[in-house]
Amino acid sequence: MKRTLLALVAAVLCSGAAATGGDERLRALIVTGQDGSHWWEGGSDALRQILSNSCLFEVEIATTPERGGDMSVFRPDFGRYDVVVVNYGGDTWSEETRAAFEKYVAGGGGVVVVHSSLVPMADWREWNRMTGLGAWDGRDEKDGPWVYWEGERLVYDYSPGAAGHHTLQHPFTVVHRTPCHPVLKGLPHVWFHFKDELYGKARGPAENMEVLATAWDDPAGGGSGRHEPVLWTVRYELGRIFVTAMGHAGNDPELRYSMEDTGFQVTLLRGAEWAATGRVTQPVPADFPSENEYTLRPEFRDLTR
Ligand code: ZN
Repeated sequence: MKRTLLALVAAVLCSGAAATGGDERLRALIVTGQDGSHWWEGGSDALRQILSNSCLFEVEIATTPERGGDMSVFRPDFGRYDVVVVNYGGDTWSEETRAAFEKYVAGGGGVVVVHSSLVPMADWREWNRMTGLGAWDGRDEKDGPWVYWEGERLVYDYSPGAAGHHTLQHPFTVVHRTPCHPVLKGLPHVWFHFKDELYGKARGPAENMEVLATAWDDPAGGGSGRHEPVLWTVRYELGRIFVTAMGHAGNDPELRYSMEDTGFQVTLLRGAEWAATGRVTQPVPADFPSENEYTLRPEFRDLTR
């Protein structure tokens, strides 16, 4: 009943939209169900609303068993979707599900990786190759270099040390490094992001990876003193992966303000379309943040259209 109602609401909202609409909407699957330090229910609900309200995506959610549960029963049919949005920080998937996901991505499937999904499954080599960089969960120099921006170029730092670092949540400035990439094309190159948890010192294979945007992790606030990647892409055989390190959702209800940020929502939507199709058809929205001012979409939709 609830699903029918949601579909009805989406159909009404999208009936007059100029977007692809109707049956032509891209099929998205949100994978969620565990997270050690985030409110995955609220975060995944926000992601569902953002994707669905755009009228570009038809959204389903696949929920894993609880932490410590029997992961062998988690077996989504990934091949039915144009893009799989991973919002998951929990137990490693079963061998069978890993193999199915690797096949889906290698065959040209689209993937979006959100914030704390960079943490789990460090023991899964192909997952680390798909995400490019990861953090915590025992990762260190054995997993690959630290990757950050310095001057006009990326630095691959192979010196030893643990992966993963963050300071208290705070607003920060996002700087686009590949402004002509379809995900970023036409957007302001520098914009102010609302309070979020800025991940730093991530490490990983970083193969076939393109850093789209960075944020300065200010050492005065305990940060790494590096321009840390916050948006990037990875090519995995024929598959396209878009990673946003932004989008923290706190432990309590209503603590998903980072996802209310317009810049987060717009880059997520554009990244999801790019991952699914290789193109971005979305116009630059009127409410995109500027260098000095963030904007919010607490309704998880663009009300300026
Ligand atoms: Zn977080």
